Amino acid sequence: MMKVAVYPGSFDPVTNGHLDIITRGAKTFDKLIVGVLVNVDKNNGLFDIDERVELIKKVTKNLPNVEVVGFNGLLIDFMREQKSHIILKGLRAFSDFEYEFQMALMNKELDPEIETLFMMTSAQYSYISSSSVKQVAKFGGNIQGLVPELVIDDILKKFKSKV
Ligand code: ADP
Repeated sequence: MMKVAVYPGSFDPVTNGHLDIITRGAKTFDKLIVGVLVNVDKNNGLFDIDERVELIKKVTKNLPNVEVVGFNGLLIDFMREQKSHIILKGLRAFSDFEYEFQMALMNKELDPEIETLFMMTSAQYSYISSSSVKQVAKFGGNIQGLVPELVIDDILKKFKSKV
C-alpha cells in the first residue's frame, strides 16, 4: 500500500525548518502532500495562499514525491480528499507539544483512522518559525539561513511593497 502523508501548516512563509521536515518526510513516505492552510483571518497573512503554495513548489522542485496543495476547512476533510490517513507534524519545543497533543486527539476523535506522527526538528532549525522570520525581515534583519535561498527575494520584495 502506498504510504501517503499530509504535512499541514500555514507556511507564511516557508522556512528552513519546514523544508527540513518536508525533505525528511519525503524520504519516509511514498508521497508527501504539503497542505497549505488558508488563514482564517486573511489580514494576518504576509503571502496569500497561492503565493505560499508557489514558494513551497519552488523549493521542493527537486523532490518528485512532494505535492503542494492549498486547502481550507477541516484538516480531516482534506485528508479524505487526498486519500491519506497520516498527518505529519514537526515539533520544535516543549511549547509546541500541548497544542499539537490536543489537535492530534481531536482529529482522532473526528476520525479514528487518522494517525498523527511527529518528527523532531533538526537542532539547527529548532528556533525558526514563520513569525520570527517575518519579524526579522520586517526590520531589515538578515534572513539568510532561516529560509531557503530561493525565497529570500520574494520575502524582501513583499515587505518593500507593504511599506
Ligand atoms: P510556523 O509555526 O513556523 O508558523 P506552521 O504553523 O506553518 O509554522 O507549521 C507547520 C508545521 O511545521 C507544524 O507542524 C510546525 O510544528 C512545524 N514546524 C514549524 N517550524 C519548524 C521547525 N523549525 N522545525 C520543525 N518543525 C517546524
